[in-house]
Amino acid sequence: MSDRDIKKAKRHLVQEEGLLFERSSPGKSAYQLPPLDVPSANPSDAFGASLLRNEIEGFPEVSEVEVVRHFTRLSTWNYGVDTGAYLLGSCTMKYNPKINEVVARLEGLGDVHPYQPEAFSQGCLKIMKLLSDILLEVVGMDAITLQPAAGAHGEMTGLFLIRAYHVSRGNPRSKVLVPDSAHGTNPASASIAGYQTQNIPSNAKGTVDLACLERAMNEEVAALMLTNPNTLGIFEDQIVEIARIVHARGGLLYMDGANLNALLGVSRPGDFGVDVLHLNLHKTFSTPHGGGGPGAGPVAVKHILEPFLPVPVLVQKSDGTFILESNRLKSIGRVRAFYGNFGMLIRALAYALANGSDGLKQVTEDAVLNSAYVRKHLEGTYDLPYPAPSLHECVFSDRKQAAKGVRTGDIAKRLIDYGFHPYTVSFPLIVSGALMIEPTESESKQELDLLIDALKSIAREVEQEPETVLQAPHTTRIRRLDEVQAARRPILRWRPA
Ligand SMILES: *Cc1c(COP(=O)(O)O)cnc(C)c1O
Repeated sequence: MSDRDIKKAKRHLVQEEGLLFERSSPGKSAYQLPPLDVPSANPSDAFGASLLRNEIEGFPEVSEVEVVRHFTRLSTWNYGVDTGAYLLGSCTMKYNPKINEVVARLEGLGDVHPYQPEAFSQGCLKIMKLLSDILLEVVGMDAITLQPAAGAHGEMTGLFLIRAYHVSRGNPRSKVLVPDSAHGTNPASASIAGYQTQNIPSNAKGTVDLACLERAMNEEVAALMLTNPNTLGIFEDQIVEIARIVHARGGLLYMDGANLNALLGVSRPGDFGVDVLHLNLHKTFSTPHGGGGPGAGPVAVKHILEPFLPVPVLVQKSDGTFILESNRLKSIGRVRAFYGNFGMLIRALAYALANGSDGLKQVTEDAVLNSAYVRKHLEGTYDLPYPAPSLHECVFSDRKQAAKGVRTGDIAKRLIDYGFHPYTVSFPLIVSGALMIEPTESESKQELDLLIDALKSIAREVEQEPETVLQAPHTTRIRRLDEVQAARRPILRWRPA
């Protein structure tokens, strides 16, 4: 059999997109209903004519088995954390336990409606209270809002709180300091809250340069936005001194808590001087992450910021019942419809309770151990620009491979051929050609060994046959995309030819 024959024989496996439409023929359908035994209703009576489209055109008419095969095939073209290791550093792509899904779908949780009266929602409010208490204990803070729908949304909320605090003291101040290793969302959030951002350089160790911070810190600075451990995975060991410098000039310390997977049960931001932080439940607390969400980015604060929290605020009354309080004079207002992505809050609570406090500590210990294991085994193969000990993620550079004309993006593409989702490419920006690897606690030693072998093997290929790496990936349905066009002119819908 020639290659072509095999391809022909396996036609159903190599079909391109649009298949469903090409299979369409008039009259086929994927459902069978008995004839109506009641008068048929006119849809425009029910919905109003303005909400109805005049004609529904271009939908394929296919049988049930065809539609099932279509979507099942599409699902195999995807890569997810249920398929294999997902090394995307900073994103904490840990496994999402299936028990979370079972709990979130329980009747009474899955079917609640946000307009249900509070009296009938006491169980849901209690879930939010339990989660709030657990998160507050984990981070060592005083009050929390569960509303923000993402990390960046939490940052924006936190910055609004900071602004409201300074306004209440007579001067909103004009600047927010952001270290050069920060996530891109940090300066963006500060700017949405009306602040100018000023960069604080890192020192040779990869942590905040204290002398620069001291010089930059004045009465115009509203806050320092710090990630800890920072995006190099390095713990800011001068954090207490950093907090002192910021507070001495009346500023507040914002912590980007996206890297909390390195701190659970070990260290609490509230104890090292943080005034406000966001958590990414879709990272640290295992709620699904990807495909655009939905996420959850609660914001925890110290008492001084509590009066400004977004409404509604969850309050427990003296008789033990819960209410959502909206009448708060100093509140920054609403940041989200209703009370956040409730389904995600249930999943996060399930995860926290299933682990318990010992389990959460173990999560951090395993995440740090896994990262250290990968780092140790790859140290000689890839350049390690910041040798200080790192926690839950490690950042290499492509310096050695760049000498052969191969960059971090090429190595990432080749890693796909080896069956792994790539690490984060070219971030943090302070490392030229960064390879940012975060294995998370989910991966076994066997999986990590396969990853290490793959990255070593790619490094050998760079030496011996760089073209193989430069042309990668070789095994995927689609090879190299035009990344600029994909970002600038995305084609999000299949249209009939
Ligand atoms: C993921 C991440 C964010 C943003 O969180 P989203 O939920 O994606 O908006 C911010 N900072 C850091 C360090 C992150 O890793």
